[in-house]
Amino acid sequence: MPKSLKVEGTIRYDGQNLVGLAPGLHRRIRGSRIGMVFQEPMAALNPVMKVGKQIEEVFRFHNVPGPYDDRIVALLASMGLPEPELLRHAYPFRLSGGQRQRVMIAMALALDPDLLIADEPTTALDVTTQKQILSLLKAAQDERHMAIMLITHDFGVVADVGDEVAVMQEGRIVERGSVREVLHNPQHDYTRTLLAAVPDLSPRPARAASAAPPLLTATDVTKTYKGRAGLFAPRREVQAVKGVSLKLARGETVGIVGESGSGKSTFARIVVRLLKADSGEVRLEGVPGNLLALDHRQLAPVRRRVQMVFQDPFASLNPRRTVFEIVAQGLLAHGVDRRTARKRVDELLDLVALDPSAAERYPNAFSGGQRQRIGIARALALEPDVIVADEPVSALDVSIQARVLELFASIQARLGIGLLFITHDLRVAAQICDHVAVMRNGAVVEEGESAQVLFDPAHEYTRLLIDSIPGLGKLPTKRAVAPAATDAPER
Ligand code: ADP
Ligand code: MG
Repeated sequence: MPKSLKVEGTIRYDGQNLVGLAPGLHRRIRGSRIGMVFQEPMAALNPVMKVGKQIEEVFRFHNVPGPYDDRIVALLASMGLPEPELLRHAYPFRLSGGQRQRVMIAMALALDPDLLIADEPTTALDVTTQKQILSLLKAAQDERHMAIMLITHDFGVVADVGDEVAVMQEGRIVERGSVREVLHNPQHDYTRTLLAAVPDLSPRPARAASAAPPLLTATDVTKTYKGRAGLFAPRREVQAVKGVSLKLARGETVGIVGESGSGKSTFARIVVRLLKADSGEVRLEGVPGNLLALDHRQLAPVRRRVQMVFQDPFASLNPRRTVFEIVAQGLLAHGVDRRTARKRVDELLDLVALDPSAAERYPNAFSGGQRQRIGIARALALEPDVIVADEPVSALDVSIQARVLELFASIQARLGIGLLFITHDLRVAAQICDHVAVMRNGAVVEEGESAQVLFDPAHEYTRLLIDSIPGLGKLPTKRAVAPAATDAPER
């Protein structure tokens, strides 16, 4: 514990106060009686030590007599890891995210702790892997009669694995009780707000299908990355997008859903011409020819019409430019004079519910949700026909996510743009998309109206994704829990 960190109060563990305990004693309890699992297994594991060796270190550190080999293999096997005999000789970077998390859990459980503290253990994982890891933790708990303190931002996870829950806000516990009680009969406004912000997984009312010709059509788009030989990995090719086709109409939201690595971002970047495709065609209403084949000069007027919103609101805004400069950049580049641009930026800020005074400030003055609004204002500046949004709410907390989704919906209703909305979260897709395409390994495995794909899926992979949604069927609907007024200031 850093010296600058001062802890007051008491933390009793089995009768003993852990606060103020000598570091040596503390370390002895930690790891042997209390196991820890973290969000980012890659950061918690030693990258230059084979995984079996790392488990061995746990035994050695706590003076457990050897031999260790059989125990390590048995432990890895009990975590459902394939070929533990071979796997224990692998370095962490060779393993998938889910496998690394299993190794972390194996280390945490090596000495049979009474308590496991798991800090967002599945937040960095895909839903299907998340489901497996949560079942693994459950099984380990049943077998070992161990207590688990699971830290999560996801009420779905709480609904799936929790017995008791405590809700924290700004360093305080504002509500606690049995999971059933708290989820279905929340007392505190903050709990209600959080629960109401989780998108309901219910079919959105189908909007009248557009009879107009599609605004954007992608046909057979293909992209293979010719990977450079990495420091550790041999040169390899990745077929990131394999013949993807889809259509987008004016005023329509088409979702692309799928797990990480399925090729969603690659496809999005190709559509906005940030990345070159190997083959395929993208047509935009009113533009003769293939968008992917246009040269620099031909592309200039098209760029205005197709804009992108990125996932990371911290990385996607230039920290050295004011919000005015960021939002007005495209306008100024297209020859709009500063006065007109100024007026337009004010309108845009108003549209995304930011104060006009925001224009003079720099991105660091804003929260994640506000920055995402700035990114949306920037995308809207040139009155595009199409916005491609790549996981635009994935980095945001759930209550802020709900507001940004509402913003997208209201903007679209007012401006009639076509929105290509990429998300790995099926609840989000259900809330905002008219149409969804499910991507896996670079290909679309199923597509159709959201209500049909999400509530009557035809493909087994879509069914697997839906079954893996945490808390499926266990969370109350928004309406049942929403607090009277939800217009608290956004953070
Ligand atoms: P998603 O957005 O669905 O997570 P991506 O389009 O980012 O998927 O990635 C698809 C596949 O392409 C993955 O296997 C990924 O590792 C690979 N990939 C993405 N970007 C690059 C790159 N610049 N170089 C090599 N491989 C890449
Ligand atoms: Mg992506």
